Amino acid sequence: MSAQTLHEEIEAAGRAIATIARYEGSASATPRPDPALEVRVSQTLERILDRKLPVDLRRRLEKLRKRLEARQPEAPRPDLGRELSQLLDPLLGSGWAETLLAQSLTALSGVGPKRAEGFARRGLERISDLLFWLPSRYEDRRQVSSVADLVVGRSATFVGEVKIVDWVPTRRGGRFGKIFQAVVGDDAAVVTLKWFRGGEALARQVVKGRRLLVSGEVKRYRFSKELIHPEIEVVAARQPEAVELAASREPDHARVVPVYSAPEGINPRTFRRLVGQAVDAYADLVVGHLPASLVAERGLPAVPDSLRALHRPEPDLDIDAYQRFASPAHERLVLEELYLLELGLAMRRAQGTSRPGVAIDAARPESRSAAKALPFELTLAQRRVVKEILDDLAVSHPMNRLLQGDVGSGKTVIAVLAAVAVAACGGQTALMAPTELLAEQHFRTLKSLAKAAGDEMPLRIGLLTASLPRAEIQALRSALAMGEIDLVVGTHLLVQGEVEFRDLVLSIVDEQHRFGVMQRAALSAARPDGRFPHRLVMTATPIPRSLAMTVYGELDLSVLDELPPGRKPVETILLRAGEGERVMELIRDTLGRGEQVYVVYPLVEESEKMDLRSAILSSERIARAFPQHRVDLVHGQLDAAARHQAMEDFGSGESSILVATTVIEVGVDVSNATLMVIEHAERFGLAQLHQLRGRVGRGERGGRCVLVVRGSSEKSELRLRAMIGTRDGFEIADADLEIRGPGDFLGTRQSGHLPELRIADLLRDTLLVAVARGVARAEIARDPGLSRVPGTLRAVRKRWGKRIDLSSVG
Ligand code: ADP
Ligand code: MG
Repeated sequence: MSAQTLHEEIEAAGRAIATIARYEGSASATPRPDPALEVRVSQTLERILDRKLPVDLRRRLEKLRKRLEARQPEAPRPDLGRELSQLLDPLLGSGWAETLLAQSLTALSGVGPKRAEGFARRGLERISDLLFWLPSRYEDRRQVSSVADLVVGRSATFVGEVKIVDWVPTRRGGRFGKIFQAVVGDDAAVVTLKWFRGGEALARQVVKGRRLLVSGEVKRYRFSKELIHPEIEVVAARQPEAVELAASREPDHARVVPVYSAPEGINPRTFRRLVGQAVDAYADLVVGHLPASLVAERGLPAVPDSLRALHRPEPDLDIDAYQRFASPAHERLVLEELYLLELGLAMRRAQGTSRPGVAIDAARPESRSAAKALPFELTLAQRRVVKEILDDLAVSHPMNRLLQGDVGSGKTVIAVLAAVAVAACGGQTALMAPTELLAEQHFRTLKSLAKAAGDEMPLRIGLLTASLPRAEIQALRSALAMGEIDLVVGTHLLVQGEVEFRDLVLSIVDEQHRFGVMQRAALSAARPDGRFPHRLVMTATPIPRSLAMTVYGELDLSVLDELPPGRKPVETILLRAGEGERVMELIRDTLGRGEQVYVVYPLVEESEKMDLRSAILSSERIARAFPQHRVDLVHGQLDAAARHQAMEDFGSGESSILVATTVIEVGVDVSNATLMVIEHAERFGLAQLHQLRGRVGRGERGGRCVLVVRGSSEKSELRLRAMIGTRDGFEIADADLEIRGPGDFLGTRQSGHLPELRIADLLRDTLLVAVARGVARAEIARDPGLSRVPGTLRAVRKRWGKRIDLSSVG
């Protein structure tokens, strides 16, 4: 095998042919090339043509070879020179291999336009998509077992004779159908094979008396074993024993077989064959982008070799490593993908930090005096984070910071102290909340904090939400434009482009656990003078740090990892439907102590009406049970004034019980409320439950949270148990991740914000994420526009598409 890659060989041949073409084209001006060169060219071409190649490339190279053979060096011909140059041209430009890899799947034999369309619907459009569609697992068919040894829950390969074939009528999902089934076995045992579709075609192969080689996962069915949609192959009658069969050259048996999640309606074997075809002809065209030093340091295989290793596994592979996506070949491809991701993040970050910003004089004393005037002392974590933020505000490039802190860790105070520092220098701060209710709540909290701190906190605070009277909105807007407001709290209205600030210096988004990528983007728009405001994103979503670094890759991270002192953990109780009496008892206890109660209902859009109805019924039932207490109901369909009133009354203790849909999920802060009943707890995400529960852990008395589970599954009970086990938001997030899987957990968060990952998994590959990030940041520091590696820049662009603006780059 030659040590040269296909790219290197083609490049070498291309250079030499170009010399020859020049000579043919204008022999008078160009000396005749060294005959040794001509010999080398033809050898190189032979070597390349010995490889498996894409059809187009092969044709072009064969034509070149023919033209070269036809030439007579003593009598150069300009027309031949032209032809050579034309044929060569596409191979000289950069990116010829990318063009071939970007071809539609119809370039493969066996894929017509119709099938290609089916693939495209699954995201398999180009040859390269197919190459990077890695097997989801591997099936070990190196061992052929006997029917009697089949184990439920395991995959196996075995030989059996067809004893019975049968069609069984069924009704699945209201549709009539027929299951094709066969009983196969040997002298010792039998097992049933079932196909819910495609039986007609199979019936031609699965015939009584024939011997089949069967592979698939063994399942239990009542008291026997069965395989659903196994892969089968008819074994020739005189084929000897199974063991020899295993050693035969049958492609899919006697080895470890990659298993793909193939598009619906495609036979797995066909799919495997197509991928194999693509790998054979195209894998060598794929280039890696990782810096050579990293590849050497980690001893990684080349990308084409990795693709071959994964799609056409060798029989002696380490199957455990393969199953865990941890083989060296996996590592290479995972790192390649993460590297492109991290390069994009590093570039975005570099761009952000190089924009013009507004520096404030952070050394002024106002923020510190305001902190001293607060009714409590800042925690160490709060002090650290305030300093991190003030340091950023003093720089003339925009801050881009994420503040992560569990519910109740005291993020609001941080926002206020930053706003004080900004106001001291004559600037304005905008604080955006995800809901009106939360904006209103923030507004009240900020007002009372300012009031408590008195003269030390001379903040002029305003509220801007859509449901305020028109005149008020108008007045507030002009106050903002005149610079008469220092800190404005609001909803997305703040960033809809119509609000004019006199001197917006700091934009804060309080996302809680919602993710408003759009709003976040809008908040980072430039000011009229072309400079960019500082940006702070506050979130209570506890996601593992390494993950946060990527999901919010271009942001710097501050973490509030300490709760204010004196917090008692919230006691969490899990109750099932039918334990309503116990719930009533807990409510009675709480009211008896003069404390207040939240009852929370989920409000899911599809069933909004129904859930609202059950919230109404429940509030009536509770009101009947506690006639001497006032029960209020808040939900999303109330207008702002009514909602406001209800919250106000609950806050002041007018009402004792607040029944609410999740509109209160974030932000409400009533320290006398010590019991929270959450209905249909199974419908909430753990992070959400954790947030809700945080609402009753505020005062010194400690709170209680009752999770009422209705019609739950085993999985949801397991999830909810995690809520009882710990109060640490990060642990809860980990549990949620483990149970739900990263797809669910990250799905909405990633979408639109980051390019989709096809191979790497931010959770599974945490360590590699860190490796890729380090290398990517170093690379961008050396070469911010990636001008030294144009192929890599193209790959980053392709990967990120519109999500990243690299227009100012290379
Ligand atoms: P978060 O937004 O992080 O969930 P908040 O900012 O709403 O938390 O703070 C929760 C409660 O803790 C508020 O009542 C706030 O006044 C209070 N608080 C914040 N910091 C401290 C502190 N250092 N000591 C005591 N109480 C604090
Ligand atoms: Mg908060």
